[in-house]
Amino acid sequence: MFLELDGWKTEVRFAAAHFIPSHDKCSRLHGHDYGVRARVHGVVKDSFIVDFLELRRIILEIIGPIDHRVIVPIVDGISSHREEGNQVIVEYQGKKFSFFLPDVYYLNDTTSSSEALAKQVGSKLWERLSPNENVSRIELSIDEGPGMGAWVEIHR
Ligand SMILES: [Zn+2]
Repeated sequence: MFLELDGWKTEVRFAAAHFIPSHDKCSRLHGHDYGVRARVHGVVKDSFIVDFLELRRIILEIIGPIDHRVIVPIVDGISSHREEGNQVIVEYQGKKFSFFLPDVYYLNDTTSSSEALAKQVGSKLWERLSPNENVSRIELSIDEGPGMGAWVEIHR
């Protein structure tokens, strides 16, 4: 059995700016209203697999720091970044941006695709849910809009 939370219908969403350095169109700085969808597989214990409201609260805690920020991948590959005082300087393909440090969300990856975001948000959710022995598997999607998402699956 699994339960499903659809962030588009339950306000589990965030907005952020990003860029995909290796992609032609997406290398331009742009933003999305992201939605999170999650499925939690397991066995029912004390009426629930997990409490919906608790699941929603945990995901909101995880995505809160990303909301209304510029996502900067910190594993330098095609893009590079450095801090200068309270500014984060990002460079790639002849472009150079300077962002105010508190406006930046550092993502521990080479890119900020939905796949990379799903991997990070999913593993943080798994850290929180896996102590519940009745939870066997989670699936989580970061959608760049309704109907377009990258899913990760994490299990025991
Ligand atoms: Zn994008």
